[in-house]
Amino acid sequence: MDEVRMPTCEEMVEFVTDYLEGTLPEADRLGFEAHLRLCVGCQHYLDQMRRTVTVTGALADETQDAISREALLMVYRAWLKERDSS
Ligand SMILES: [Zn+2]
Repeated sequence: MDEVRMPTCEEMVEFVTDYLEGTLPEADRLGFEAHLRLCVGCQHYLDQMRRTVTVTGALADETQDAISREALLMVYRAWLKERDSS
């Protein structure tokens, strides 16, 4: 496991779209899943993102990148707020 770098929660946010689309490189995916097993916050975050991606997935490809990045940050900020208040 030494060569697998554990991403931070912030990096998880960047990886999550690629992970859900199945385009995350193997090394990053292993780190992502390792982090996921240890971090309940990111497990919830991934659940929320699955729903968000399902919604934005209906949009045209060229606008999807910009919009899902926005949606990602929105969900992430909401999640941070929720986590800090509990
Ligand atoms: Zn995390």
